[in-house]
Amino acid sequence: MKRLLLLLSLSVTCSFAFPAVPETDNEESLAEEYLKKYYNLKTDGSRQSRKKNSIPFSEKIRQMQEFFGLEVTGKLDADTMKMMKQPRCGVTDVGQYSTFTGRPVWRKKDIRYRILNYTPDIARADVDTAIQKAFKVWSDVTPLTFTRIYDGVSDIEISFGAQVHGDFYPFDGPRGTLAHAYAPGDVIGGDAHFDEDETWTTGSAGFNLFLVAAHEFGHSLGLDHSKIPGALMYPTYSYVNPNAFKLPRDDTNGIQALYGARRDNPTGLAKLTMPTTCEPNIIFDAVTTLRGDILFFKEKNFWRKVPQNLEVRYYLIKSFWPSLPSDIEAAYECQEKDQVLLFKGTQYWALSGSDIVKDFPKSIYKLGFPQTVKRIDAAVNNKETGKTYFFVDDNYWSYDEDKQLMDQTSPRKISADFPGIGQKVHAVFQSNGFLYFFNGPNQYEFSTRTNRVTRQLKNNSWLNC
Ligand SMILES: [Zn+2]
Ligand SMILES: [Zn+2]
Repeated sequence: MKRLLLLLSLSVTCSFAFPAVPETDNEESLAEEYLKKYYNLKTDGSRQSRKKNSIPFSEKIRQMQEFFGLEVTGKLDADTMKMMKQPRCGVTDVGQYSTFTGRPVWRKKDIRYRILNYTPDIARADVDTAIQKAFKVWSDVTPLTFTRIYDGVSDIEISFGAQVHGDFYPFDGPRGTLAHAYAPGDVIGGDAHFDEDETWTTGSAGFNLFLVAAHEFGHSLGLDHSKIPGALMYPTYSYVNPNAFKLPRDDTNGIQALYGARRDNPTGLAKLTMPTTCEPNIIFDAVTTLRGDILFFKEKNFWRKVPQNLEVRYYLIKSFWPSLPSDIEAAYECQEKDQVLLFKGTQYWALSGSDIVKDFPKSIYKLGFPQTVKRIDAAVNNKETGKTYFFVDDNYWSYDEDKQLMDQTSPRKISADFPGIGQKVHAVFQSNGFLYFFNGPNQYEFSTRTNRVTRQLKNNSWLNC
């Protein structure tokens, strides 16, 4: 099929080599293409069927004029032609789903997305940010969350392509169609494609990727085009300052009709949904220091303890690092590199302050783990030795940060070298020369000098409980 589409597009390209056609005929065929693409006009290819005064053709012109609030004449007047030349989204303006029972929506709240390739127009980090911001437009007003994944199957796949790009709707070169996206569903459902022949930008020149992506993701979530000028889901492109962007009421109503409103506070300081911090048997997923603060991860949340003023703050992981997953399994700070490393399954991420370091996540096997290790329970960097300890079941691995090599002696039994803390470690961090081990609801203060447990504490002892 790809080959067939390619041949078709070649023949279209060749037709430009013929002598110039009169202006009116040009306008007419432009209009025909437009109505076919966006208003489901069916022609049998005969001259008669595309004549501007034939019934289906003028009927479709009326439909289009009505949609855009133009004077409904059924004729290709100047206003209509002007509108048809506006750069726009490739999705049709006619209710695609009205013939089916119900409209497609995602039947889950945590949507996974993947960026398959990049445009060379702007830096990769700018693409990542634009995409992340565009999803945030929708997650701010719905209970939906968007998690970026780097391999495997995602719900929404994002890609850039020119002309024929793997589906039945080839792009059209610069301007015209800018992008299109598919309604929720399997395989191609939810996917968003951006025309690589456009100039993508982070500003007002060319086409602003954030603005177009925010619109396309509306389709990925099940929205149709809006007739309201100024709505994000209006079909044509218009620039607004992305930093001042606020989702218009029409779009908010539309998406909340599909998914409901968001319950908690989108800033992340969600007091109402805050888990019970002082629950005595709380078990943390991971604990790490970060530039003097201590972070306690649990599911989609983390607490940040600022020792200087004894303050404890609660956040959603997403509100700080939108592309990080929830349920982090291990974390440690490498002060030498001023990085915090977070582990989940066989992947790990590096944070530098509040940024995720480029080219992460990486595979834990790059650190020297054998394939039998499928996850890390806990990790800590011992500042005194420079070694990082990774805890996996009842073993631990010692990693030399300077040589970037796993020590030959690894793995060793936890009970052999850290007596008194039990067989397993759920979380661990270092503070003032002590290692604090969390095992189930118990916390052990362990002196690395005397190599023994000095105190047993409650898990929540750090959270002002
Ligand atoms: Zn659209
Ligand atoms: Zn496409």
